[in-house]
Amino acid sequence: MPFTSPSQIPVGVDPTRPSIARIYDGFLGGKDHYEVDRAVMDKISATVPEALHIARGNRGFLNRACRFLSAQTGIEQYLDCGSGLPSAENTHQIAQRSKPDATVLYVDNDPVVLAHGRAMLEENGFTHMVAADIFDPPAVLNHETVVKHIDFSKPLVLLQVGTLHHVEGDSGPEIMRQYIDALPSGSYVVFSHFFDPEIPELTEIAKRIEQVMVQGPLGAGRFRTRAELEAMLPGLELIKPNALSEPGIVICDQWWPDGPQVVPLSKAAHCIAGAVARKP
Ligand code: SAM
Repeated sequence: MPFTSPSQIPVGVDPTRPSIARIYDGFLGGKDHYEVDRAVMDKISATVPEALHIARGNRGFLNRACRFLSAQTGIEQYLDCGSGLPSAENTHQIAQRSKPDATVLYVDNDPVVLAHGRAMLEENGFTHMVAADIFDPPAVLNHETVVKHIDFSKPLVLLQVGTLHHVEGDSGPEIMRQYIDALPSGSYVVFSHFFDPEIPELTEIAKRIEQVMVQGPLGAGRFRTRAELEAMLPGLELIKPNALSEPGIVICDQWWPDGPQVVPLSKAAHCIAGAVARKP
């Protein structure tokens, strides 16, 4: 797989290089960030003060999608690619609440994420942390820990939440095709991505953040259109995302929200979209 993202070179312990995982965690309210990460966060916030709504909308979507899948499918195995730093609620806690022996594999390449993830392993024997490049599907799918703990003859949940926008160029659909090909029928994909809503006042917000991310030290962070996002879900049936919308991709905050939206969404909140889809 050719090089498609600066994040494929793990950030290592270099304190002068910002980390996507730490910046994202900082926008969620976490404390595991360094000066170099705060400089990027400050630049993004100065450009678009409500940019943190993107991270929060994304994480809320991930949590609600996991609650839905855990409660309404019999699936007991999850492959969470680009899992990020542990947050208030994580995939294994949601999945194991209703099915205590559900298997959850977290995959990341950030050493801080891996260290925190391994600490979480002490919680139980059904959660595992894998160090691999998520933009190299064979490296994940053939990883010994994945092969050992995931039974690819039974449906699983594949999460690619807030990850593929870190891929530069147009290899996102091919990366996702390789993952989707490996899934047995009845599996689900949880997917989210920075979104260009193609409405001038919202596209302008998306492009401003994209410029800081792509031209800054992270070197990646693309806001893509609906058609570009749909191309990353080949061969899947997208499920209905709320009571009013047809099956498809929606703004993360509008994916089966916990209640009515009494506070209007910010413009930035419209710049992250997601879907839950089933492999027929
Ligand atoms: N999925 C989580 C969520 O949505 O809350 C975290 C998303 S965070 C924005 C992106 C995560 O992907 C980070 O933890 C980062 O380290 C990880 N990541 C980015 N590129 C990666 C790569 N090439 N291989 C493995 N992990 C990667």
